[in-house]
Amino acid sequence: MTDLSEPGSPAPAPAADRAGAAWLDRYTDAVMNTFGTPGRVLVRGQGAHLWDADGKEYTDLLAGIAVNCLGHAHPAIVEAVSTQISTLGHVSNFFTTPAQVRLAEELISLTFPGRPEHDSRVFLANSGTEANEAAFKIARRHGGAGRPRVLALQDAFHGRTMGALALTHKAAYREPFEPLPGGVEFIPAGDTEALRNALGPDVAALIVEPVQGEAGVRELPAGYLEAARELTRTAGALLIVDEVQTGMGRSGAWMAHHLLAPGVVPDVVTLAKGLGGGIPIGAVVATGEAASLLGPGQHGTTFGGNPVACAAALAVIDTIRGQDLLGRVERLGSAWARELLAVDGVDEVRGRGLLIGVGLAAGLPPAGEIAATLAEHGFIVNAPRPDTIRLAPPFILSDDDASAFTTTLSEVLARALSEKAGS
Ligand SMILES: *Cc1c(COP(=O)(O)O)cnc(C)c1O
Repeated sequence: MTDLSEPGSPAPAPAADRAGAAWLDRYTDAVMNTFGTPGRVLVRGQGAHLWDADGKEYTDLLAGIAVNCLGHAHPAIVEAVSTQISTLGHVSNFFTTPAQVRLAEELISLTFPGRPEHDSRVFLANSGTEANEAAFKIARRHGGAGRPRVLALQDAFHGRTMGALALTHKAAYREPFEPLPGGVEFIPAGDTEALRNALGPDVAALIVEPVQGEAGVRELPAGYLEAARELTRTAGALLIVDEVQTGMGRSGAWMAHHLLAPGVVPDVVTLAKGLGGGIPIGAVVATGEAASLLGPGQHGTTFGGNPVACAAALAVIDTIRGQDLLGRVERLGSAWARELLAVDGVDEVRGRGLLIGVGLAAGLPPAGEIAATLAEHGFIVNAPRPDTIRLAPPFILSDDDASAFTTTLSEVLARALSEKAGS
């Protein structure tokens, strides 16, 4: 009899050292080509380490792009998810669960510390793009037809659904899908005068990333968020801060805007990536008027607020708090940034905490090639731009793993520089 608990029959077993290649062939035949060819076939993770289908080990310095903040197979997440799914795995949004309510309360106090009680509300989604999609709908509800314009920043990345894509700057992502929702205008990032000139009584919202991750880890200049808060308030527009990549401790504070602009209170903050520690979840946290702009029937989701995802997020929050991981992110991040800046071939180190953009010197091979070489040496990183390596490792990365990477990077760059000198 067929055992229904087992997945479909596997393909003929390939030679052990060809297992990855065989999976990649099957991937190409079965999965849409939206991501290009995957770099590796990964089968297992433990802490800050990963193993591929051929048995090779890697240090994970990308954490699923700022997602696995507690690393892989963290006992707190395993325990929380296992307990929740064996108790109650899903309910519709005709109902709620203790996990959902507790997470909403936690997110309000982490995002808006010191705000008056009962002034903030959360909408739970499943991803960053959905969190921003909901924020966009909040912006549309704000001022209605009288405020048709929404401002976003050049080089911004806010996601891939049609609304979030309309807020995303890169032409190659947008143009194949036009017409997109209208009214979005892009202004230069960090330029207060441009913002002042663009704002008016017809603007519903400004959306910003405190550190533009996909643009190569580029932090907004000092004073910009403060000015943006002042100018949007004067114009009656909402300030939406996209903390999908930077939030939940990655910067060394719960929210990057708490570090960059203490005292600035946005109307809306969006979260995802690290929030569930690897379980898909996103959130919109809004305060003041923005917290009640979406009413019954105006937005929804089947999976949003799922108790398993909420339990994972609660475990992430408890662990970060209980083990002072914010302090760890801050200390390791700043020490590592100094180490990396001393490497020959590194021009610049940008970012905050454990979201680090390593700017490569001119004349080196493209960062994508360097990233591929680093993977050969057992380090997973990525290249958001041709001149930048991005590091977004688990918060539990050891000092030794961080230093081992610095050593390998300096060897890889030294070789590249000497090849260039020799050519
Ligand atoms: C990754 C990201 C998104 C999109 O999140 P998804 O979960 O991939 O949909 C949105 N905004 C920022 C700043 C991001 O880094």
